[in-house]
Amino acid sequence: MNKKNILSGMRPTGPLHIGHLFGALKNWKKLQDEGYNCFYMIADYHAMSTEYTSMERIKEYAEEVAMDFIAGGLDPNRSTIFVQSMVPEHTELHLIFSMIVPIPWLERNPVYKEQKKQLIAKDLNTYGFLGYPVLQAADILIYKAGYVPIGMDQLPHLELTREIAQRFNYLYGETFPIPEALLTETPKIPGTDNRKMSKSYNNCIYLKDSPDVIKDKVSKMFTDPKRIYRKDPGHPKTCPAFIYHKLFNSEDRVGEIEKECKGAMIGCTDCKKELGIAVVSYLEGIQSKRKELERNRREVWDILKKGETKARKIAMETMKEVKSRIGMKYE
Ligand code: SF4
Repeated sequence: MNKKNILSGMRPTGPLHIGHLFGALKNWKKLQDEGYNCFYMIADYHAMSTEYTSMERIKEYAEEVAMDFIAGGLDPNRSTIFVQSMVPEHTELHLIFSMIVPIPWLERNPVYKEQKKQLIAKDLNTYGFLGYPVLQAADILIYKAGYVPIGMDQLPHLELTREIAQRFNYLYGETFPIPEALLTETPKIPGTDNRKMSKSYNNCIYLKDSPDVIKDKVSKMFTDPKRIYRKDPGHPKTCPAFIYHKLFNSEDRVGEIEKECKGAMIGCTDCKKELGIAVVSYLEGIQSKRKELERNRREVWDILKKGETKARKIAMETMKEVKSRIGMKYE
């Protein structure tokens, strides 16, 4: 099939949650099923750019993410699933790009400015953190990806990738196609406390959470704050539990719940009890696949090794072309 290459990645900072499932994985799987040549990467160097003082669990996290990828529907026989640092050509291309990227391009990156403000506890005054999007450009361009499925928050990084590709092409000749973003349709899924779902807020539902843990988390979920008494009418629009119903429950039932909530015919406790059951049943398939992988960790690493081989083959070809364009042909 002569379809464009696709690349995307996630930083291994722990197991994946339902935000990752609806915000990325489902879309990645869809693209795989449509027959694109997909590369899905565990971006351990990108994780290191902010977590460099606490790297002890990086291997464990990479393994968790790999298991969640596969359990979530990525098929290692069709998609190339790999760990970034196992394909050293990414770092080589990153270095070459770092020679041609003007520092102001990086300093005015809104993601950089925002993260540096927010993550004050970490010292992010590093060379590598400033160059985060340069590495991301290398990830994408080394596979000459035409499409990059990402969330809105990553758009500035993709824009930089496009600018870097253009600059390289201008300086050394047409080498890289200019990639396009494929934005994920699903709006952001709130955490159980209605803030952004994030490990640091302790408000996530993980794909690997046991049914009891899921039911417990859902039962404690934030609901419509204006609904104080059982007899008060609810406002599903502002209730995070209702957003979850729309994702995990059947369409018909969602319509009914909306009416029952507005008419105070259902209480929040019962509503969330039903939701807990729906979430558990929705995740059942993913969880049974994941358990199987947890029992066969060797298989997980075999898949990542196979991904490394497939990825490196292409990455090495691109690097050969890149160096020869620059004039570094030393054989
Ligand atoms: Fe939210 Fe359900 Fe309560 Fe309505 S009944 S406010 S949808 S939890």
